Amino acid sequence: MKRIVVCGAGGFIGGHLIKRLKSEGNWVRGADLEFPEFAPTQADDFIIGDLRDDRLCKEVFDGFFDEVYQLAADMGGAGFVFTGNHDATIMHNSALCNLNVLEACRVRNIKRIFYSSSACVYPERNQLDPDNPLCSEESAYPANPDSDYGWEKLFSERLYLAYSRNHNMEVRIARLHNIFGEEGTWTGGREKSPAALCRKIAEAKVGDAIEIWGDGKQTRSFLHVSECVEGILRLMRSDWEGPVNIGSEEMLTINHLARMIMDIAGKQLNIRHIDGPLGVRGRNSDNRLLRQMLSWAPDMSLRDGLEITYPWIRDQVEAAKNQNIEVIHRNVKPDTKTWFTPTSLAK
Ligand code: NAD
Repeated sequence: MKRIVVCGAGGFIGGHLIKRLKSEGNWVRGADLEFPEFAPTQADDFIIGDLRDDRLCKEVFDGFFDEVYQLAADMGGAGFVFTGNHDATIMHNSALCNLNVLEACRVRNIKRIFYSSSACVYPERNQLDPDNPLCSEESAYPANPDSDYGWEKLFSERLYLAYSRNHNMEVRIARLHNIFGEEGTWTGGREKSPAALCRKIAEAKVGDAIEIWGDGKQTRSFLHVSECVEGILRLMRSDWEGPVNIGSEEMLTINHLARMIMDIAGKQLNIRHIDGPLGVRGRNSDNRLLRQMLSWAPDMSLRDGLEITYPWIRDQVEAAKNQNIEVIHRNVKPDTKTWFTPTSLAK
Protein backbone atom coordinates (compact mmCIF):
# COMPACT_ATOMS: atom_id res chain seq x y z
CA MET A 1 0.00 0.00 0.00
CA LYS A 2 1.35 3.40 -1.01
CA ARG A 3 0.63 6.75 0.62
CA ILE A 4 -0.45 9.10 -2.16
CA VAL A 5 -1.58 12.74 -2.53
CA VAL A 6 -3.81 13.80 -5.43
CA CYS A 7 -4.00 17.58 -5.96
CA GLY A 8 -7.05 18.61 -7.98
CA ALA A 9 -8.89 15.72 -6.31
CA GLY A 10 -12.25 17.46 -6.66
CA GLY A 11 -11.87 17.64 -10.43
CA PHE A 12 -12.81 15.34 -13.26
CA ILE A 13 -9.59 13.37 -13.83
CA GLY A 14 -8.59 13.58 -10.14
CA GLY A 15 -11.86 11.92 -9.08
CA HIS A 16 -11.41 9.03 -11.52
CA LEU A 17 -7.74 8.67 -10.59
CA ILE A 18 -8.59 8.39 -6.88
CA LYS A 19 -11.18 5.68 -7.57
CA ARG A 20 -8.53 3.68 -9.38
CA LEU A 21 -5.81 4.26 -6.74
CA LYS A 22 -8.24 3.18 -4.01
CA SER A 23 -9.28 0.07 -5.96
CA GLU A 24 -5.60 -0.90 -5.90
CA GLY A 25 -5.49 -0.65 -2.10
CA ASN A 26 -3.57 2.61 -1.64
CA TRP A 27 -4.08 5.24 1.06
CA VAL A 28 -5.03 8.48 -0.69
CA ARG A 29 -5.24 12.08 0.44
CA GLY A 30 -7.09 14.49 -1.86
CA ALA A 31 -6.64 18.25 -1.94
CA ASP A 32 -8.81 20.75 -3.82
CA LEU A 33 -10.77 23.96 -3.48
CA GLU A 34 -13.89 21.84 -3.43
CA PHE A 35 -15.24 18.31 -3.19
CA PRO A 36 -16.09 16.48 -6.42
CA GLU A 37 -19.33 17.74 -7.91
CA PHE A 38 -20.92 14.52 -9.10
CA ALA A 39 -19.91 11.70 -6.75
CA PRO A 40 -18.55 11.46 -3.21
CA THR A 41 -14.78 11.33 -3.06
CA GLN A 42 -13.23 7.95 -2.37
CA ALA A 43 -10.13 9.52 -0.82
CA ASP A 44 -9.28 8.48 2.75
CA ASP A 45 -8.62 12.07 3.65
CA PHE A 46 -9.60 15.25 1.77
CA ILE A 47 -8.21 18.70 2.44
CA ILE A 48 -10.34 21.56 1.20
CA GLY A 49 -7.99 24.41 0.54
CA ASP A 50 -6.18 26.67 -1.87
CA LEU A 51 -2.89 25.35 -3.27
CA ARG A 52 -1.94 28.88 -4.29
CA ASP A 53 -1.17 29.35 -0.60
CA ASP A 54 2.12 27.80 0.45
CA ARG A 55 0.89 27.43 4.07
CA LEU A 56 -1.89 25.17 2.82
CA CYS A 57 0.65 23.14 0.83
CA LYS A 58 2.66 22.56 4.00
CA GLU A 59 -0.50 21.14 5.61
CA VAL A 60 -1.20 18.91 2.62
CA PHE A 61 2.33 17.45 2.55
CA ASP A 62 2.68 17.01 6.29
CA GLY A 63 4.47 13.67 6.26
CA PHE A 64 5.94 11.05 3.98
CA PHE A 65 4.18 10.21 0.72
CA ASP A 66 5.31 7.75 -1.95
CA GLU A 67 3.62 9.53 -4.86
CA VAL A 68 2.03 12.87 -5.68
CA TYR A 69 -0.27 13.56 -8.64
CA GLN A 70 -0.55 17.28 -9.41
CA LEU A 71 -3.73 17.88 -11.44
CA ALA A 72 -4.91 21.16 -9.90
CA ALA A 73 -5.22 23.91 -12.50
CA ASP A 74 -7.49 26.76 -13.45
CA MET A 75 -8.75 25.27 -16.67
CA GLY A 76 -11.65 24.65 -19.01
CA GLY A 77 -12.59 24.12 -22.64
CA ALA A 78 -12.22 26.57 -25.54
CA GLY A 79 -14.94 28.82 -24.11
CA PHE A 80 -12.71 29.41 -21.10
CA VAL A 81 -9.10 29.24 -22.30
CA PHE A 82 -9.33 30.70 -25.82
CA THR A 83 -11.36 33.87 -25.24
CA GLY A 84 -8.35 35.70 -23.78
CA ASN A 85 -10.53 36.96 -20.92
CA HIS A 86 -9.05 34.64 -18.30
CA ASP A 87 -5.38 34.55 -19.31
CA ALA A 88 -3.98 36.37 -16.28
CA THR A 89 -6.07 34.30 -13.87
CA ILE A 90 -5.16 31.02 -15.55
CA MET A 91 -1.43 31.78 -15.57
CA HIS A 92 -1.32 33.20 -12.06
CA ASN A 93 -3.43 30.51 -10.40
CA SER A 94 -1.99 27.44 -12.11
CA ALA A 95 1.64 28.57 -11.88
CA LEU A 96 1.26 29.28 -8.16
CA CYS A 97 -0.23 25.80 -7.56
CA ASN A 98 2.70 24.20 -9.37
CA LEU A 99 5.37 26.31 -7.64
CA ASN A 100 3.92 25.62 -4.20
CA VAL A 101 3.22 21.92 -4.63
CA LEU A 102 6.66 21.21 -6.04
CA GLU A 103 8.49 23.17 -3.36
CA ALA A 104 6.46 21.53 -0.57
CA CYS A 105 7.39 18.13 -2.01
CA ARG A 106 11.06 19.08 -2.14
CA VAL A 107 11.03 20.23 1.49
CA ARG A 108 9.37 16.96 2.54
CA ASN A 109 11.77 14.90 0.43
CA ILE A 110 8.89 13.47 -1.60
CA LYS A 111 10.52 12.25 -4.78
CA ARG A 112 7.97 10.97 -7.25
CA ILE A 113 5.52 13.47 -8.68
CA PHE A 114 3.22 13.41 -11.69
CA TYR A 115 2.38 16.61 -13.56
CA SER A 116 -0.60 16.95 -15.92
CA SER A 117 0.53 19.04 -18.86
CA SER A 118 -1.48 19.48 -22.04
CA ALA A 119 -1.51 19.16 -25.82
CA CYS A 120 -2.00 22.94 -25.73
CA VAL A 121 1.81 23.31 -25.43
CA TYR A 122 2.26 22.50 -29.14
CA PRO A 123 3.02 25.39 -31.50
CA GLU A 124 0.25 26.76 -33.64
CA ARG A 125 2.38 26.59 -36.83
CA ASN A 126 2.24 22.77 -36.78
CA GLN A 127 -1.53 22.64 -36.35
CA LEU A 128 -2.77 24.73 -39.27
CA ASP A 129 -3.62 21.82 -41.55
CA PRO A 130 -6.62 19.93 -40.11
CA ASP A 131 -5.57 16.73 -41.88
CA ASN A 132 -1.89 16.70 -40.87
CA PRO A 133 -1.22 18.19 -37.46
CA LEU A 134 2.22 17.57 -35.94
CA CYS A 135 2.20 16.89 -32.20
CA SER A 136 5.29 14.75 -31.61
CA GLU A 137 6.85 15.58 -28.25
CA GLU A 138 10.03 17.24 -29.56
CA SER A 139 7.99 19.54 -31.85
CA ALA A 140 6.96 21.63 -28.82
CA TYR A 141 10.17 23.66 -29.41
CA PRO A 142 10.77 26.33 -30.68
CA ALA A 143 7.76 27.11 -28.52
CA ASN A 144 4.70 29.03 -29.67
CA PRO A 145 1.51 27.71 -28.04
CA ASP A 146 -1.67 29.48 -29.20
CA SER A 147 -2.94 30.18 -25.66
CA ASP A 148 -1.55 31.41 -22.36
CA TYR A 149 -2.97 28.24 -20.83
CA GLY A 150 -0.47 26.39 -23.06
CA TRP A 151 2.40 28.74 -22.13
CA GLU A 152 1.77 28.15 -18.42
CA LYS A 153 1.81 24.39 -19.01
CA LEU A 154 5.12 24.71 -20.84
CA PHE A 155 6.60 26.86 -18.06
CA SER A 156 5.47 24.32 -15.46
CA GLU A 157 6.86 21.38 -17.45
CA ARG A 158 10.22 23.13 -17.33
CA LEU A 159 9.79 23.84 -13.63
CA TYR A 160 9.23 20.13 -12.91
CA LEU A 161 12.19 19.12 -15.07
CA ALA A 162 14.41 21.70 -13.32
CA TYR A 163 13.44 20.31 -9.90
CA SER A 164 14.24 16.87 -11.20
CA ARG A 165 17.72 17.94 -12.32
CA ASN A 166 18.62 20.15 -9.38
CA HIS A 167 16.85 18.36 -6.51
CA ASN A 168 17.00 14.76 -7.61
CA MET A 169 13.23 14.38 -7.93
CA GLU A 170 11.54 11.81 -10.18
CA VAL A 171 9.00 13.74 -12.20
CA ARG A 172 6.60 12.26 -14.74
CA ILE A 173 4.89 14.57 -17.23
CA ALA A 174 1.94 13.71 -19.48
CA ARG A 175 0.66 15.99 -22.23
CA LEU A 176 -3.02 15.07 -22.06
CA HIS A 177 -5.13 15.42 -25.22
CA ASN A 178 -8.86 16.24 -24.75
CA ILE A 179 -10.02 13.91 -22.01
CA PHE A 180 -13.76 13.25 -21.79
CA GLY A 181 -16.12 11.03 -19.85
CA GLU A 182 -18.76 10.72 -17.18
CA GLU A 183 -18.49 12.98 -14.11
CA GLY A 184 -16.80 15.68 -16.22
CA THR A 185 -17.93 19.30 -16.44
CA TRP A 186 -20.87 19.43 -18.87
CA THR A 187 -22.18 22.97 -18.43
CA GLY A 188 -21.22 26.36 -16.96
CA GLY A 189 -18.69 27.56 -19.58
CA ARG A 190 -15.71 25.33 -18.77
CA GLU A 191 -16.99 22.20 -20.50
CA LYS A 192 -15.08 20.80 -23.47
CA SER A 193 -16.55 20.02 -26.87
CA PRO A 194 -17.64 16.36 -26.33
CA ALA A 195 -19.53 17.30 -23.14
CA ALA A 196 -20.95 20.48 -24.67
CA LEU A 197 -22.19 18.59 -27.73
CA CYS A 198 -23.67 15.79 -25.60
CA ARG A 199 -25.54 18.43 -23.57
CA LYS A 200 -26.79 20.32 -26.64
CA ILE A 201 -27.97 17.11 -28.27
CA ALA A 202 -29.63 15.86 -25.06
CA GLU A 203 -31.46 19.20 -24.72
CA ALA A 204 -32.55 19.41 -28.37
CA LYS A 205 -35.93 18.41 -29.72
CA VAL A 206 -36.38 16.77 -33.11
CA GLY A 207 -36.18 19.49 -35.77
CA ASP A 208 -33.94 21.72 -33.64
CA ALA A 209 -30.46 22.84 -34.74
CA ILE A 210 -27.48 22.66 -32.42
CA GLU A 211 -24.80 25.32 -32.55
CA ILE A 212 -21.15 24.54 -33.32
CA TRP A 213 -18.38 27.13 -33.06
CA GLY A 214 -16.63 27.77 -36.40
CA ASP A 215 -17.22 25.68 -39.52
CA GLY A 216 -16.90 22.41 -37.60
CA LYS A 217 -14.10 21.26 -39.91
CA GLN A 218 -11.45 21.70 -37.21
CA THR A 219 -10.07 18.31 -36.18
CA ARG A 220 -9.34 16.84 -32.74
CA SER A 221 -8.97 13.50 -30.99
CA PHE A 222 -10.64 12.60 -27.69
CA LEU A 223 -9.64 10.11 -25.02
CA HIS A 224 -11.96 8.48 -22.51
CA VAL A 225 -10.97 9.19 -18.90
CA SER A 226 -10.49 5.49 -18.05
CA GLU A 227 -7.73 5.27 -20.67
CA CYS A 228 -6.23 8.54 -19.41
CA VAL A 229 -6.00 7.15 -15.86
CA GLU A 230 -4.46 3.93 -17.17
CA GLY A 231 -1.83 5.94 -19.05
CA ILE A 232 -1.05 8.17 -16.06
CA LEU A 233 -0.46 5.15 -13.81
CA ARG A 234 1.66 3.35 -16.39
CA LEU A 235 3.74 6.49 -16.89
CA MET A 236 4.15 7.00 -13.15
CA ARG A 237 5.47 3.46 -12.77
CA SER A 238 7.83 3.72 -15.74
CA ASP A 239 11.37 5.06 -15.93
CA TRP A 240 10.61 7.63 -18.64
CA GLU A 241 11.04 11.18 -17.42
CA GLY A 242 10.42 13.43 -20.45
CA PRO A 243 6.99 14.79 -21.40
CA VAL A 244 4.87 12.25 -23.26
CA ASN A 245 1.53 12.47 -25.06
CA ILE A 246 -1.41 10.60 -23.58
CA GLY A 247 -4.26 10.86 -26.05
CA SER A 248 -6.18 9.13 -28.77
CA GLU A 249 -4.98 8.98 -32.37
CA GLU A 250 -8.56 8.70 -33.67
CA MET A 251 -8.81 12.17 -35.24
CA LEU A 252 -12.10 13.50 -36.58
CA THR A 253 -13.83 16.81 -37.31
CA ILE A 254 -16.10 18.44 -34.76
CA ASN A 255 -18.98 18.05 -37.26
CA HIS A 256 -18.24 14.33 -37.36
CA LEU A 257 -18.11 14.18 -33.56
CA ALA A 258 -21.55 15.84 -33.40
CA ARG A 259 -22.97 13.32 -35.90
CA MET A 260 -21.55 10.42 -33.88
CA ILE A 261 -23.23 11.68 -30.70
CA MET A 262 -26.52 12.25 -32.56
CA ASP A 263 -26.33 8.67 -33.76
CA ILE A 264 -25.82 7.40 -30.21
CA ALA A 265 -28.67 9.62 -28.99
CA GLY A 266 -30.92 8.45 -31.81
CA LYS A 267 -31.60 12.09 -32.82
CA GLN A 268 -30.85 13.53 -36.23
CA LEU A 269 -30.55 17.29 -35.75
CA ASN A 270 -29.42 20.20 -37.88
CA ILE A 271 -26.15 22.00 -37.23
CA ARG A 272 -25.84 25.79 -37.18
CA HIS A 273 -22.28 27.12 -37.38
CA ILE A 274 -21.65 30.27 -35.37
CA ASP A 275 -18.65 32.39 -34.37
CA GLY A 276 -16.82 31.26 -31.25
CA PRO A 277 -13.40 30.62 -29.72
CA LEU A 278 -11.75 27.82 -31.67
CA GLY A 279 -8.14 27.01 -30.88
CA VAL A 280 -5.93 25.40 -33.50
CA ARG A 281 -7.24 24.11 -36.84
CA GLY A 282 -6.10 20.52 -36.35
CA ARG A 283 -4.76 18.43 -33.47
CA ASN A 284 -4.14 14.74 -32.92
CA SER A 285 -2.16 12.77 -30.40
CA ASP A 286 1.09 11.25 -31.63
CA ASN A 287 1.58 8.11 -29.54
CA ARG A 288 4.86 6.86 -31.01
CA LEU A 289 6.93 7.82 -27.97
CA LEU A 290 4.25 6.52 -25.61
CA ARG A 291 4.31 3.11 -27.33
CA GLN A 292 8.08 3.05 -27.33
CA MET A 293 8.52 4.01 -23.66
CA LEU A 294 5.52 2.31 -22.03
CA SER A 295 4.87 -0.52 -24.53
CA TRP A 296 1.26 0.61 -24.34
CA ALA A 297 -1.17 3.01 -25.99
CA PRO A 298 -4.89 3.55 -25.48
CA ASP A 299 -7.17 1.54 -27.76
CA MET A 300 -10.73 2.31 -26.66
CA SER A 301 -12.66 3.74 -29.60
CA LEU A 302 -14.23 7.18 -29.36
CA ARG A 303 -17.61 5.61 -30.05
CA ASP A 304 -17.25 3.23 -27.08
CA GLY A 305 -16.32 6.14 -24.78
CA LEU A 306 -19.25 8.24 -25.99
CA GLU A 307 -21.64 5.30 -25.51
CA ILE A 308 -20.83 5.59 -21.78
CA THR A 309 -20.61 9.38 -21.59
CA TYR A 310 -23.71 10.45 -23.52
CA PRO A 311 -26.23 8.65 -21.27
CA TRP A 312 -24.53 10.13 -18.19
CA ILE A 313 -24.83 13.69 -19.56
CA ARG A 314 -28.39 13.06 -20.79
CA ASP A 315 -29.30 11.97 -17.25
CA GLN A 316 -27.72 15.13 -15.80
CA VAL A 317 -29.73 17.26 -18.24
CA GLU A 318 -32.94 15.39 -17.32
CA ALA A 319 -32.25 15.64 -13.59
CA ALA A 320 -31.61 19.37 -13.86
CA LYS A 321 -34.85 19.78 -15.81
CA ASN A 322 -36.87 17.73 -13.31
CA GLN A 323 -35.50 19.64 -10.35
CA ASN A 324 -36.07 22.89 -12.18
CA ILE A 325 -32.37 23.77 -11.82
CA GLU A 326 -31.20 26.47 -14.17
CA VAL A 327 -28.51 25.10 -16.47
CA ILE A 328 -26.04 27.94 -16.65
CA HIS A 329 -24.46 28.58 -20.05
CA ARG A 330 -21.84 31.22 -19.61
CA ASN A 331 -18.12 31.69 -19.85
CA VAL A 332 -17.12 31.91 -16.23
CA LYS A 333 -17.60 29.68 -13.25
CA PRO A 334 -18.91 31.26 -10.05
CA ASP A 335 -16.25 33.36 -8.37
CA THR A 336 -16.39 31.29 -5.21
CA LYS A 337 -13.97 28.91 -6.91
CA THR A 338 -11.29 31.48 -7.57
CA TRP A 339 -11.53 33.40 -4.33
CA PHE A 340 -12.34 30.63 -1.88
CA THR A 341 -10.57 31.01 1.49
CA PRO A 342 -9.98 27.67 3.15
CA THR A 343 -11.08 27.52 6.76
CA SER A 344 -7.72 26.06 7.73
CA LEU A 345 -6.07 29.34 6.70
CA ALA A 346 -8.55 31.55 8.49
CA LYS A 347 -7.17 30.44 11.89
P1 NAD B 1 -10.83 20.01 -13.52
O1 NAD B 1 -11.06 21.48 -13.68
O2 NAD B 1 -12.02 19.12 -13.46
O3 NAD B 1 -9.93 19.74 -12.24
C1 NAD B 1 -8.98 20.65 -11.77
C2 NAD B 1 -9.21 20.80 -10.28
O4 NAD B 1 -8.21 21.69 -9.77
C3 NAD B 1 -10.57 21.43 -9.94
O5 NAD B 1 -11.31 20.57 -9.09
C4 NAD B 1 -10.20 22.71 -9.23
O6 NAD B 1 -11.09 23.05 -8.15
C5 NAD B 1 -8.81 22.40 -8.72
N1 NAD B 1 -8.09 23.63 -8.44
C6 NAD B 1 -7.95 24.70 -9.26
N2 NAD B 1 -7.27 25.68 -8.63
C7 NAD B 1 -6.97 25.20 -7.39
C8 NAD B 1 -6.32 25.76 -6.26
N3 NAD B 1 -5.83 27.00 -6.28
N4 NAD B 1 -6.21 25.01 -5.14
C9 NAD B 1 -6.74 23.76 -5.10
N5 NAD B 1 -7.36 23.17 -6.14
C10 NAD B 1 -7.49 23.91 -7.27
O7 NAD B 1 -9.85 19.57 -14.70
P2 NAD B 1 -9.49 18.12 -15.23
O8 NAD B 1 -10.15 17.96 -16.54
O9 NAD B 1 -9.70 17.11 -14.18
O10 NAD B 1 -7.93 18.31 -15.53
C11 NAD B 1 -6.94 17.93 -14.58
C12 NAD B 1 -5.59 18.40 -15.07
O11 NAD B 1 -5.31 17.86 -16.37
C13 NAD B 1 -5.45 19.91 -15.21
O12 NAD B 1 -4.15 20.29 -14.82
C14 NAD B 1 -5.61 20.14 -16.69
O13 NAD B 1 -4.98 21.33 -17.12
C15 NAD B 1 -4.98 18.89 -17.27
N6 NAD B 1 -5.50 18.58 -18.60
C16 NAD B 1 -6.78 18.20 -18.76
C17 NAD B 1 -7.27 17.92 -20.02
C18 NAD B 1 -8.70 17.51 -20.25
O14 NAD B 1 -9.08 17.30 -21.40
N7 NAD B 1 -9.53 17.36 -19.21
C19 NAD B 1 -6.42 18.04 -21.14
C20 NAD B 1 -5.11 18.45 -20.93
C21 NAD B 1 -4.64 18.69 -19.66
